[in-house]
Amino acid sequence: MAGEAQADCVFCKIVAGEIPSTKVRETEHTLAFRDINPQMPTHVLVVPKAHYPDAAALAVADPGLAGAVLAEAGRVAEEEKVVDSGYRLIFNTGSGAGQTVFHAHVHVLAGGGLHEKLV
Ligand code: 5GP
Ligand code: ZN
Repeated sequence: MAGEAQADCVFCKIVAGEIPSTKVRETEHTLAFRDINPQMPTHVLVVPKAHYPDAAALAVADPGLAGAVLAEAGRVAEEEKVVDSGYRLIFNTGSGAGQTVFHAHVHVLAGGGLHEKLV
């Protein structure tokens, strides 16, 4: 069923506490934790606790939860004090675009190289 934990999903395991992570923020329905392989000084992942394969699928199934993930990304940026300098939110969607974990997540990136625009 949509949203149910997947046994083979690394982020479901992090949400369940079965794999350790460095928690940044937590709400009833979302979790923010540091990326294990940071690409910038600030590199935090925000996920819904429920499993959806990507951000668009999450938004279709539960727009409110998708909004909550985005709001949490903004709160992470505030807590990391990167709002003034700027930060970037990235949703890799599909393996062709670099998605490696098929549990919806947004990367919150800041602290270096953001002047190099992708688009
Ligand atoms: P994607 O490539 O799917 O957009 O992003 C997945 C991200 O999850 C990668 O940046 C990767 O470093 C991170 N990641 C993968 N496994 C783990 C893990 O076990 N713990 C943490 N904290 N991050 C992980
Ligand atoms: Zn999952």
